[in-house]
Amino acid sequence: MNKMTRPAPVSEMLAPRSVAVIGASEDQTKFGGRLFHMLVRHGFGGTIYPINRKRETLSDIPCFARIGDTPSAPDMAVMAVPRDHVKAAVTECAEAGTKAVIIITAKFSDVGEEGARLEAEVVEEARRHGMRIIGPNCLGIISPANSLVLCASPALYVDELLVGRIGMVSQSGALMATLFDRAQTRGVGFSHCFSIGNQADMEMCDFLDFLVEDPATDVICAYIEGVKDGRRFMEVAERARAAGKPVLAVKAGRTDFGAAAAFSHTASLAGSYEAFEAACSQSGVVLMDDPDAMVMLAAALTRFDRPERMETALMTTSGGGGAITADRLTDLGLPLATYAPQTVAALEEHYLPDNARANPIDMGAAKAGGSMLVGEDSVHALLTDPETGVVLCPLTTAPDMRLLCECLAKGLARAEEGGTRKPCLVVLQPGQAANKARAELLKHGLFFFDGLDEAIRVIDGYRKLLTLAPPRGARGTSPAGAAPDAASGALDEAAAKQLLDGYGVPVNRGAVAQDAAAAGKVAGDLTGPFVVKVVSPDIVHKSDAGGVALGLTSAEEVAQAVTEMAARLGQSHPEARITGYLVQEMVEGELEMFVGARRDPLFGPVVMLGAGGVMVELLKDVAVRLAPVTPDEAREMIAGLRVAPLLEGFRGSAPLDIDALAEAVSRVSWLAHDLGPRFAELDVNPVLVRKAGEGCTGVDARILMEEE
Ligand code: ADP
Ligand code: MG
Repeated sequence: MNKMTRPAPVSEMLAPRSVAVIGASEDQTKFGGRLFHMLVRHGFGGTIYPINRKRETLSDIPCFARIGDTPSAPDMAVMAVPRDHVKAAVTECAEAGTKAVIIITAKFSDVGEEGARLEAEVVEEARRHGMRIIGPNCLGIISPANSLVLCASPALYVDELLVGRIGMVSQSGALMATLFDRAQTRGVGFSHCFSIGNQADMEMCDFLDFLVEDPATDVICAYIEGVKDGRRFMEVAERARAAGKPVLAVKAGRTDFGAAAAFSHTASLAGSYEAFEAACSQSGVVLMDDPDAMVMLAAALTRFDRPERMETALMTTSGGGGAITADRLTDLGLPLATYAPQTVAALEEHYLPDNARANPIDMGAAKAGGSMLVGEDSVHALLTDPETGVVLCPLTTAPDMRLLCECLAKGLARAEEGGTRKPCLVVLQPGQAANKARAELLKHGLFFFDGLDEAIRVIDGYRKLLTLAPPRGARGTSPAGAAPDAASGALDEAAAKQLLDGYGVPVNRGAVAQDAAAAGKVAGDLTGPFVVKVVSPDIVHKSDAGGVALGLTSAEEVAQAVTEMAARLGQSHPEARITGYLVQEMVEGELEMFVGARRDPLFGPVVMLGAGGVMVELLKDVAVRLAPVTPDEAREMIAGLRVAPLLEGFRGSAPLDIDALAEAVSRVSWLAHDLGPRFAELDVNPVLVRKAGEGCTGVDARILMEEE
């Protein structure tokens, strides 16, 4: 945390003695009207100060014309006033001694330059008085744990707020309200939900910090469009992990299109998704791609123990539903359980031997023929099966589903009394036929899924949680003694290779010559066969331009290749400045890989590894980690690639030198790290990898450094 700002008082914001609602009214079609209504409706225990010039009272609560008129300074204020009134209202609050305000009003930095200027002014005004701001462009706070609602969403027209142990931070207010609403109807509650909008003052990590410490929260969900401070995000995630609180996240902007949408939405730069993914996996955050499934995984994590294994047992009312579920799990590589003998014996009480071994268990096939009563023993048998990690009940529409749900709840309760708190995930289709069944589950304190897809995503999320990389150990030290000294701008192949060589990354030998005769001489000092490449700041893709000649066997051939290349390029690229010809040794290899690095604006240098050449773009088979990485981590990167089998030895082909490649990746990552803040990009493509024990060599390289 930045030591310069005082810690954000989120816990104080959740327990204000008094709240001013600026623009409070009885008109619930207006934000101010709903803000006031929801605060009263959900039983806020402190004093409410409605600010309204035209009224004496609202719902028997005395109104005030100005914040300055209230008998004591309100601890919190919430406002949805028109944008042009925000600054004045903020000044009033700050001067009155308000500790924090929530600004619902939008059209600040979310709409461009002018809005951003106004936003900065508002923040400065608040900071002068030590007042904190949530928003603008947010929906505020819903805190069921504290009976505090500072939010105007229609999702709050409910009689009771379900209290759960899930804390949520969302950069989108509308999404927060939607998730809240859907969760609530499925029996899932929250401790606190924060919609943080433009994060003009308080940012996501302030709220994450709070949730990590919060005794009312066990699991944290975050909907993220852009992270403000990458290192701080990782640090708080690591603290959550140490505290045993899973952090689940969904990040918008995975695709270029999504990134553009996120930018215009809350004005935060969506950093590259891959770097974010790497940061999440290295700091123990489970990254998901569906916000509803994220909340449901959180619900499952707060309701049940974490599974210790991924084998899933299915229990269904229809053969069809079960078969489709089994397919979906199998597609994702999620295993289906094979029951232990005692489980089969227990199931044989109700099913014929073949059916008792089947996964899915089809209650329709029970000996009692369609009686829902078998549900209790069946689910109990599956939950207590030692070979099963998760029980999934995708229930299709059937007669008497209410009774079935009652039986399920009983079987689950019996298992839990016996000490098993394994996940039992129940899917009910959204139609009216399941209305009574849903109510029955809720009565027993059991949440349910509306569709199979979410339940499958939750099981996949469990797997991610189970297979998270352990906390990062020590990084070791740089392979180079002193920080490298690199010029600004694009470094050509020769200059880039010199830096790589200094870091012990194997590169082939060569030297630049100005003309054909000099090139022939250079070849004399090298071991053939040779390669000639044009050196030009204007030719990035040398082979595309005809600027690479391979397989030259003598000094004469090298000289001739230079003469021909000069003539050819003079024709095809008359504008290109040619600064020389790189004569180098030709290298053998079984497989072309690429190793790269770039500086991510949020997370710093990242290192990348993938299949080399044109396949990079075609296959998008790339592993990304934050730099630097150890050789062991580089080996994990290799193992995760789709081309890994080619390196490990595929169908009788010899295994390649994975150790040498991993070592090179680690060294490149250190170079990227040590090049410091001017470092922009680095590309070694290809790295030719030979058979195990024979090493690898980078034969082309580029580095881009920014100006001082
Ligand atoms: P560019 O990427 O600018 O087109 P490269 O230097 O990568 O140029 O050369 C193009 C291709 O030529 C490489 O992908 C590799 O297949 C081959 N190549 C280049 N240099 C060598 C070398 N020294 N030994 C073996 N093959 C090479
Ligand atoms: Mg290349």
